Amino acid sequence: MVFPPGSTVKPLTLLALLESGRLRANEEYLCPGHLTIAGRSLNCSHPPASLPMDVPRTVAYSCNCAVAHFAQRFRPGELPQALERDGLSSQTGLLPGEEAVGFIRDGLTGPACLLQALGEEGVQVTALELLTAYRRLANRVREAVMAPVLAGLEGAVEFGTAQAARLEKVRVAGKTGSVRTLAGGHGAWFAGFAPSRSPEVVVTVFVAGLSGGADAAPIAGQLLHRYFAGRT
Ligand SMILES: [Zn+2]
Repeated sequence: MVFPPGSTVKPLTLLALLESGRLRANEEYLCPGHLTIAGRSLNCSHPPASLPMDVPRTVAYSCNCAVAHFAQRFRPGELPQALERDGLSSQTGLLPGEEAVGFIRDGLTGPACLLQALGEEGVQVTALELLTAYRRLANRVREAVMAPVLAGLEGAVEFGTAQAARLEKVRVAGKTGSVRTLAGGHGAWFAGFAPSRSPEVVVTVFVAGLSGGADAAPIAGQLLHRYFAGRT
């Protein structure tokens, strides 16, 4: 099955902007908290920000306003190409048998492009495709361009939206998402990897639920806890 990736796509969006040079690693944006795109209310759910949003805080707090602000810089076709490269519309071959494939709408401009950058519209993925995209992130943790995004994924687990996936002895990098499905239901995402600086395992969770942080991240935490059980 395919679902919108919601906020789990934000690290991919920001990395695409960093790689294209349209976003500098030290740029900041003061989050106004309120956001409406094409009549849709996408207000931020994080506490009022005392500091401007840089890339790490944008990821850790899942700031819609900052992502939408920076995503206005995409040239036509740039974001779909980046998401395609990340594997969001390709069979993964990770499981035997038939596999659903997501889709990324091309040619979106204006508000529709911003909704795609937020993972709300114009992109649908399977859990395996999201896994592939986060495996790609995990394989790039030593690249300089990844540094602010990685700090954000670590921050999400340490003090942001994905704290329920935190482990005591192993640093986890992860991101949550909360979406409406095509069928009108609610879906909760977690995507991440660990250990954050020398990854050996990637995990995605998609469950029916209202909140990635409350419904998906705890399951990821249990899976990772079990995976690393017995390690020092
Ligand atoms: Zn915000």
